[in-house]
Amino acid sequence: MPDERVVVIGAGVGGLVAAALLAAHGRDVTVVEACGGPGGKLRAIDVGGMRVDGGPTVFTMRGLFEEIFAACGGSLDDHLAIRSAATLARHAWGDARLDLHADPAASEAAIGDFAGADAVRGYRAFRAEAKRLFEALDRPFLRGTKTDPITLGWRMGARGLPDYLNLRAYTSMWRALGRYFADPRLRQLFGRYATYCGSSPFACPATLMLIAHVEASGVWLVEGGMYRLAFALEALGRANGVRFRYDAPVAGILVEHGRATGVRLASGERIAAGAVVCNADPAAIAAGAFGQAARHATRPVAPARRSLSALVWTARATARGFPLARHTVFFSDDYPAEFAALAAGRLAGVPSVYVCAQDRTDDGGNAAADERLQIIVNAPATGDGAPLPPVEIDRCTQAMLKAVSRAGLSLSLAPSTVLTTPADFARLCPSTGGALYGPASHGWAASFRRQGSRTRIPGLYCAGGSTHPGAGVPMAALSGRLAVECLLRDRASTSAWTRAAMPGGTSMRPATTAATG
Ligand SMILES: Cc1cc2nc3c(=O)[nH]c(=O)nc-3n(C[C@H](O)[C@H](O)[C@H](O)COP(=O)(O)OP(=O)(O)OC[C@H]3O[C@@H](n4cnc5c(N)ncnc54)[C@H](O)[C@@H]3O)c2cc1C
Repeated sequence: MPDERVVVIGAGVGGLVAAALLAAHGRDVTVVEACGGPGGKLRAIDVGGMRVDGGPTVFTMRGLFEEIFAACGGSLDDHLAIRSAATLARHAWGDARLDLHADPAASEAAIGDFAGADAVRGYRAFRAEAKRLFEALDRPFLRGTKTDPITLGWRMGARGLPDYLNLRAYTSMWRALGRYFADPRLRQLFGRYATYCGSSPFACPATLMLIAHVEASGVWLVEGGMYRLAFALEALGRANGVRFRYDAPVAGILVEHGRATGVRLASGERIAAGAVVCNADPAAIAAGAFGQAARHATRPVAPARRSLSALVWTARATARGFPLARHTVFFSDDYPAEFAALAAGRLAGVPSVYVCAQDRTDDGGNAAADERLQIIVNAPATGDGAPLPPVEIDRCTQAMLKAVSRAGLSLSLAPSTVLTTPADFARLCPSTGGALYGPASHGWAASFRRQGSRTRIPGLYCAGGSTHPGAGVPMAALSGRLAVECLLRDRASTSAWTRAAMPGGTSMRPATTAATG
C-alpha cells in the first residue's frame, strides 16, 4: 500500500495551500513550521500592542483563493471580510500626485489631467498589452507546471502562436515602457511593477508588464489585516484534518533508496511520510540546510541572481501634511540611480518609498492621529553578510523620512516601531540573504530556470514564492496547488506501475518523471 502521509515543511502561503488541498484529497498531512504560527512572510508584527501587517498588503487574484477554498469544501467569504478597492494606489513625485483606480475610465481621466492626452493613449495601449500578455500566459505558464520555451509553445498551440512569437521576453520592461509613456513619471510608475517580484525594470523582460494587469483586475482589502489570510488558510487545512506543529524547525529531509521518506526535526524527532512538500526556499535545500542527502534535489542560487530584499518599518505613527491613501508610493527622481545602487549591493541614497496605511480606506478615509503604517524601501539581499550597524539603520530611516517629506508627508514614528532588515528576512527564510521573491526575474530565461514543483528526489516537492510560477501571494498559492497536482499525478502513476509490475501484469511503465515540473 502506498504511504499516504505527507509532511509539509513551512506554513507560508505555498505550504498552507498545498496542505489544505492535499488533505482535501484524503492525504494525512502534517505541517511543520519553524515559527510560532502560520504565514511566513504573510505575517503581522506586534508593534506597541497592535498587530501591523509586516509582509504583503496588496491582495490580488481573489478568484484564485475562492477556487482553492471551494476545492477544500470551504468559502473564502466565510473566513474573511474582503472589500474591493476603488482606488488602487496613490503615487507622488514631490507636489505631483496621481491615483490609479479600479475603473479604467477613472484612471484614464486621472492620467489625462496628470500628463495629457498622449499619456492617456499610451496608457490605453499599455493596459491592452499587459492584458494580452497575462491572458496568453495564464493557463499555459502560470497555472501549468514548470516548462521550457519549446513546451510552452506547444501548450499555447496554433491559436496562441501570434502571442508566443510576441511575448516581449527579449526587451527590457523599462525600454518597452518608453514606447508607451513619454512622461518619465509614468514610465517609473509602471516600471515599479517589476519590484512585485523583486526585480529591476531595467533588467527584467517586458513580459512582466502582465503584473500591471493583475493589479488593474482588482485589489482587495482584507479587514483587520492581510495576515488574516494565513489564519484563514490554516483554518481551511484544519477543517480538512491537517495537523500543524509550530516552533518545530526541520533539520533534515529523510531520503531512503533515493526517495524522500519524511523529515527530521531539530529536536531529533523523525516524522515518516510517503512524500514531502518543502515550502522553505529551495535555495535552503541546495545549501544543505536539510542535510547532505537532500542537497542535490535543487540548484543553488548565486547571490548575484537573488531578487530584492527590503527594509520594512512597521509602526504606530502620526502622518501629517499629505493625504495618504491605503497604498501610497513616493517616487525618487532618479530610478536608474536607485536600481544601479541596488544592483551594486547598496541601499539607494534617495529611495522610492511605499507606505501602507492599513487602517484607512482605499482612498484615504479613516485617517487617525495614531495609525498603523507599514513602510517599505527596497534593499539588496545581502542579509547573510555583516548586519547593518545602528548608525546605518539610522541613516536609512532618515533617508526614508526625507524621501516622503518631498511630497509634504511628515511622519512621526512611535518608539515601538519595528524595523525588519534583510538579515531578519534571511533568518525567516534561510539561505536567501533576505531575498523576498526567490531568484530575480532578470533576462528572458529566468522564469524558465526557476525551481519547479518536482525536485531531483522523487517524493520531494517544492512550493512557494521562490518556485515556479513566481513570487507574490497568488503565485505562491498557485505553486502550492501545482505541487499537489504533481504529487497526486506521480502517486497515481506509481500505483499504476506497481499494479503493472504485479505478477500477471504485462507492462512495466516508468514510475515518475522526477527531474522536471
Ligand atoms: C515586506 C513584504 C511585502 C510584500 N508585499 C506583497 C504584496 O503586497 N502582495 C503580494 O502578493 N506579495 C507580497 N509579498 C510577497 C509575498 O509575501 C510572498 O511571495 C509570499 O508570502 C511567499 O510565500 P511562500 O509560500 O514562499 O512562503 P514564505 O512566506 O517564504 O514562508 C516559508 C515558511 O517556511 C518556514 N521554514 C523555513 N525553513 C524552515 C525549516 N527548516 N523548518 C520549518 N519551517 C521552515 C518559514 O518559517 C516560513 O514560515 C511581500 C513580501 C514581503 C516580505
